[in-house]
Amino acid sequence: MRFNILNSCIRSLCTVQCTPKICIVGAGPAGFYAAQKLLKDLTIVKIDILEKLPIPFGLIRYGVAPDYSELKNVINTFHKVAINPHVKFVGNVTVGLDVTIKDLRENYNVVLLTYGAQFDRLLNIPGENVNNVISPQNFVGRYNGVPENKNLKINLDVEEAVVIDQNNVAIDIARILLTPVDKLKSTDITSYALEALCHSKVRKVFMVGRRGPMQAAFMTAKLREILNLESCRTFWREQDFENVEAMVPTLDRTRKRQIELKLQSVKESKCDSMYTKELYPIFLRSSVEFLGDKKLEGIKFAINQLRGETIQNQVAEMTGDFEEISCGLGLRSIGYKAVQIDNSIPFNTDKGHVENTNGKVEGNLYIAGWAATGSTDVLIKTMTNAFQVAKLIHNELSSNTTKQAHGWAALSEILKTKGVQTVSYEDWQKIDRVKQERGKRQGKVREKIVDVKEMLEIAENV
Ligand SMILES: Cc1cc2nc3c(=O)[nH]c(=O)nc-3n(C[C@H](O)[C@H](O)[C@H](O)COP(=O)(O)OP(=O)(O)OC[C@H]3O[C@@H](n4cnc5c(N)ncnc54)[C@H](O)[C@@H]3O)c2cc1C
Repeated sequence: MRFNILNSCIRSLCTVQCTPKICIVGAGPAGFYAAQKLLKDLTIVKIDILEKLPIPFGLIRYGVAPDYSELKNVINTFHKVAINPHVKFVGNVTVGLDVTIKDLRENYNVVLLTYGAQFDRLLNIPGENVNNVISPQNFVGRYNGVPENKNLKINLDVEEAVVIDQNNVAIDIARILLTPVDKLKSTDITSYALEALCHSKVRKVFMVGRRGPMQAAFMTAKLREILNLESCRTFWREQDFENVEAMVPTLDRTRKRQIELKLQSVKESKCDSMYTKELYPIFLRSSVEFLGDKKLEGIKFAINQLRGETIQNQVAEMTGDFEEISCGLGLRSIGYKAVQIDNSIPFNTDKGHVENTNGKVEGNLYIAGWAATGSTDVLIKTMTNAFQVAKLIHNELSSNTTKQAHGWAALSEILKTKGVQTVSYEDWQKIDRVKQERGKRQGKVREKIVDVKEMLEIAENV
């Protein structure tokens, strides 16, 4: 009997000492996918996921368009990770502010950064500060309930809008501007963004890219959706497609499908007189100046030509000619970049991401997701990247003896000393229930709560 108790004590002592403690910074897809893989591969592990907002799931909540309910179902996968007894979600903790990376590295065996790329890039051209030149991040943030974007000043009382670039975010923005509002009413779009869209006068959206139709960076599925929008007609410039048809057989499968869709759309001009909105995809134009003094009146574009052999590597070269497109709203969607959340992280300011080699930063510090790759990847690539980095962590943990780390016991003391109110996953579920109840009353899946203070009050008191 005595022997058994001693044995189980030794076993539990060893388990405590040998359990690797991993801290993940950022509760977006990269963080959750990495945690999922680590739980699968490591027999014993403790994972704490720190998140600056009281809300988990990153851009799935704050980026992905409100009507993409299928894509948002990935939250079910992340939920299973969050309720795993070896995982602790800790919301309302800003790493770099409430706790340093040094603190985390000292108290965990591994620190994995997955804090995304949350700052939008500037074009650095004249007029970028003119009224109604809007950052895509703020526009998307407003319809998705990002607290700091609630009061974004945007004037939709204009007929023409230009979205600069042809990536996935750009096409989302164009689609939201062109979608009949009835289609958005039952989604979790914020009520104030919906109200603004109800009164929007925007009728024409130009989506302008630097390179040609072969190089547009959006997904084919997104193109198909926008082309199929009710009461919207797409106007292509036929000259953009000269010689394109002849190249179709040489293209890879993905590019071929997209180009075929574009060519088909160019040919079948919708003769539907019922359309009320218009989409103009425009190629081979680089923005050089936002025009207007107090308010935006148009955008000046340099006309480009392509130089280079292969389609992937062709670059846009200015011809010296220019064109102006008149518009009262400009959205520059040229990508997001990460920031250096803590001085100790080696950071590439030009590229806007943390220096790393295949996910390894240095010592016990790793990185995955948009903070490592930049904002080009869609969810599936973020998942692949997070799985790869989790595998690397697993391999390196297996080849090192795991030192005892204090993990949450030490971190919770640091946060207590700083007076940080943390939000657990159960707290977040309370907040979410309130959102769902409020949404139900309005015939929506959820009504977003935008005020962080209100979220914290619900977490504490409900
Ligand atoms: C507008 C938009 C639309 C998109 N639409 C699609 C789509 O339709 N289909 C698709 O496949 N992909 C889409 N994506 C891409 C997809 O959202 C990304 O691939 C994915 O979210 C990247 O995951 P991540 O975890 O690296 O970053 P994020 O999702 O940004 O998560 C990072 C998390 O870290 C937190 N954080 C930041 N700083 C700190 C800090 N200092 N301390 C603690 N936490 C911090 C953030 O609050 C956030 O929760 C879209 C992206 C955007 C921007």
